[in-house]
Amino acid sequence: MGIVLKDILAILPNGEKDEVRKTCIYIEGNRIAAVGEKPKGFREDKVIDGQDRLVIPGLINCHTHSYMAFMRNVADDLSFMDWLFGTIDPIEQQMTDEDTYWGACLAIIEMVKSGTTCFNDMQMNIHQTTRAVKESGMRAVISRGLIGSGHDEAGQMRLRQAYEERDAAKDCDRLSFMLGPHAPYTCDDEFMRVVSEEAKKNGMRIHVHLSESVSEIEQIREKYGLTPIEMADRNGLFDVPAIAAHCVQVTDEDIAILKGKKVSVVTNPASNMKLGNGFAPIGKMVEMGVNVCLGTDGAASNNSLNMFRELGLLTLIHKGVNKTPQCISAREGFRIATINGAKALGLEEETGSIEAGKKADLAILDLNTPSLTPRNNLIAGLSYSANGSEVETVIIDGKIVMEDRKVLTMDEELVYKKINEIIVRMGLDKKEYE
Ligand SMILES: [Zn+2]
Repeated sequence: MGIVLKDILAILPNGEKDEVRKTCIYIEGNRIAAVGEKPKGFREDKVIDGQDRLVIPGLINCHTHSYMAFMRNVADDLSFMDWLFGTIDPIEQQMTDEDTYWGACLAIIEMVKSGTTCFNDMQMNIHQTTRAVKESGMRAVISRGLIGSGHDEAGQMRLRQAYEERDAAKDCDRLSFMLGPHAPYTCDDEFMRVVSEEAKKNGMRIHVHLSESVSEIEQIREKYGLTPIEMADRNGLFDVPAIAAHCVQVTDEDIAILKGKKVSVVTNPASNMKLGNGFAPIGKMVEMGVNVCLGTDGAASNNSLNMFRELGLLTLIHKGVNKTPQCISAREGFRIATINGAKALGLEEETGSIEAGKKADLAILDLNTPSLTPRNNLIAGLSYSANGSEVETVIIDGKIVMEDRKVLTMDEELVYKKINEIIVRMGLDKKEYE
């Protein structure tokens, strides 16, 4: 099928920068066939009028737990360890595979509606997120969360599930897989070594949580006399391309390790603030040349999966924390939310920018909205004033997944109904806000 975005304003890469330019974009099959000139023999099956519209590369959410969308607003205003082990863990003990499937569906609807076309997920119930991804037309990178100690059977079972899930999704090229050792406080050093050996052997990337809270730092320091980043490095996690979520409580030596080992850092500002974990030194990391990308974390700790809100926070909080208005500019922020994410996931040849040959992963925004008026600086508009409601049409892998704000691939009403039923069944509906 050939789709043309006709005479549309687009955010296009120009060297290391992005520029806004009016152009035509030709999509053939799942790829962008051309930007500008119509390719020879191109068949126009559908024309999208670009009048008063802006097309951007779909945003890339580099760290989330999509199944947690049904846990939105169920565990608020708690310390990190109370949130995780006191509230979320008991809910996870009683959730079924179907619950996680509906959670992933809700997450995908929320992400598509706010312009995200690819997400990097860590989860536990295999086949459920991949099922939602396959049905919805979304692009995703999946890690089965791995927890283990030494060569224990539970850890080995999780590893087998990770491969089983990967092998069962071979028919869907919108899905790719990483190994996901959960965190240094849930994986001991020997198990970390087991996972890094597996990753090397199987040519897989690593997705891990590191240095998220002060209590994690204290716990790992007490157990190993190291920072979580030093512990991960010593056990080989960074010997393959790795993506580390959070990196909030880090030393300069930690940042040097991340840079030296080419580890991508996913910053999750809303989740870090909401759990009282603090602010990652993102300005310093960018300055030192670390590839920084952006994520929402799960809806249980954010409580939103809207990357526009995250982009707004990213481009504001570091200015405030460092008392420097130049820290993380609108342009830098936009790249962090797009191409840097693609690099972190090893997908930079496929997505993250609007270029001929790449997969057509695009979000079209309505410019006749207060937040994007006037049109004097649309990149600033995306970073500082857009809220995601401007996203009108979303194309993923060359297919229109949302048109005029209607998600075409999923039954939205059914998903909302199912989620509300889960909350009632678990007795979470009567939770009073104290
Ligand atoms: Zn997380």
